[in-house]
Amino acid sequence: MKKPCFIFVTGGVVSSLGKGIASAALAALLQTRGYKVRCRKLDPYLNVDPGTMSPTQHGEVYVTDDGAETDLDLGHYERFTGVPARQSDNITTGRVYSNVIARERRGDYLGATVQVIPHVTDAIKSFIKGDLADEDFVLCEIGGTVGDIEGLPFLEAIRQLGNELGRARVLFIHLTLLPYIPTSGELKTKPTQHSVKELLSVGIQPDILVCRADRAIPESERRKIALFCNVPEKNVIAALDIDTIYQVPINYHEQGFDRVVLEHFGLDAAKEPGLSGWHTVVRRVRHPESVVKVAIVGKYTAMLDSYKSLSEALIHGGIANNVKVDAWWVDSEVFESEDAVGRLEGVNAILVPGGFGERGTQGKIRAAQFARERKAPYFGICFGMQMAVIEVARHLAGVSDASSTEFSPQKNPVVGLMTEWTRGNQLEKRAEGGDLGGTMRLGAYPARLVGGTKVFDIYGGRKDISERHRHRYEVNIHYRPQLEKAGLVFSGLSPDGHLPEIVELRDHPWFVGVQFHPELKSKPFAPHPLFTAFIRAGLERSRLV
Ligand code: GLN
Repeated sequence: MKKPCFIFVTGGVVSSLGKGIASAALAALLQTRGYKVRCRKLDPYLNVDPGTMSPTQHGEVYVTDDGAETDLDLGHYERFTGVPARQSDNITTGRVYSNVIARERRGDYLGATVQVIPHVTDAIKSFIKGDLADEDFVLCEIGGTVGDIEGLPFLEAIRQLGNELGRARVLFIHLTLLPYIPTSGELKTKPTQHSVKELLSVGIQPDILVCRADRAIPESERRKIALFCNVPEKNVIAALDIDTIYQVPINYHEQGFDRVVLEHFGLDAAKEPGLSGWHTVVRRVRHPESVVKVAIVGKYTAMLDSYKSLSEALIHGGIANNVKVDAWWVDSEVFESEDAVGRLEGVNAILVPGGFGERGTQGKIRAAQFARERKAPYFGICFGMQMAVIEVARHLAGVSDASSTEFSPQKNPVVGLMTEWTRGNQLEKRAEGGDLGGTMRLGAYPARLVGGTKVFDIYGGRKDISERHRHRYEVNIHYRPQLEKAGLVFSGLSPDGHLPEIVELRDHPWFVGVQFHPELKSKPFAPHPLFTAFIRAGLERSRLV
């Protein structure tokens, strides 16, 4: 096995500086130079995974092929590098402690007093080094900001790794903020100096500083940062606010970020990397030929990070069609009142994303009904598919009380709880009222498409597809004959034919519901075909009205 180099990315001053994008963009840059990369996220919070956290608190839960519910930064990593993320790429304090405590109960520590150092830090280190094959670089982002109490064991673990593996295999990057103070007309370096001091107090001297700022960093300030923070001037990289995140790798390269990293590891940086793919993506984002207005009728619209992959996938759909997607994020509760639904007249396409719980469902059903009746493109994702099926059942199939058992026990459970399903050769079982964490139908599942349908064409005539899931309820296959008679085509099913995975309306320009989350696999270089087709349908409609 090859020995990988480790790049640790910490953050200081404030949170939300975009460490995830910074790590993803650097990884993508190293990739363009032919290196194999893997990105990881170490989250200091106590939840075992973010699956039980509200998306309005912590943003989207990103789901991997292997069924892990992970931090949304893994979505950035995957979108920038194309490397599929895995369970082993995200760890939390909760997961570390539950492993350590389970081992303690088994007696694995042979009578030792189990302590943060060395037992917890050892567990963190073996996670960082574990499950690797032939990667050249492993980029590990530490969640939170330096100085957080819960982050200390992680900083201690990476400090130890710096010693154990030697500086030739470890690099520390610290991301900070240079706030602009209007009254003095200056970008201030003091918070960065303090943050580096804080890192030094736990034994870590950063090698590279990435400084977020809203304007160019003057030479004098760069010099000051270098001097006070003990790094060469060329190792101070500016991360300026930018109109598209896909420009970040290009900006980093222009400042020599990748060169400095390679030089640290004693690697040749003479050859220029091929960045034309990134230039193309950025050109398309910046120079669209027209605009498609899409209403996203959801629940967590106050916190856009809850739909991170979705908003990126919409941008990708725009890239594929050379258009700008003008997204209107609207709380579905707005449409609980019947007259409000007319506001959807102004958009070219309607999307109802994933969601949980009954609040706001009436508005989602109404949005689906509007799209069906007005022949506006409709894309229902997961919950959005379930709501569309309930709408069709109620208004076209004569099941007037159709609903989901997610809300309460139902006489007509058109959407119902799944307690058993197969994954590969294994039977997965869930108890009603069981644990909520990590117990949904999670991760990649195959589906078989029905020839002659719209989605069959959209997927380029492929019969077998694989997409990622995260849900507890399913459309009830027993209602299939009734729903098909009403015009709803079951165009994708689980290979055993028990689980409806995709539905579409027969007499409609574009009305598709999918039980999975296609947004999780869309990339700027490879927009997901469903998003490409949805935005194209919106574009066609925009030409009609
Ligand atoms: N609440 C629904 C379920 O659990 C849908 C979940 C989702 O949209 N991700 O089945």
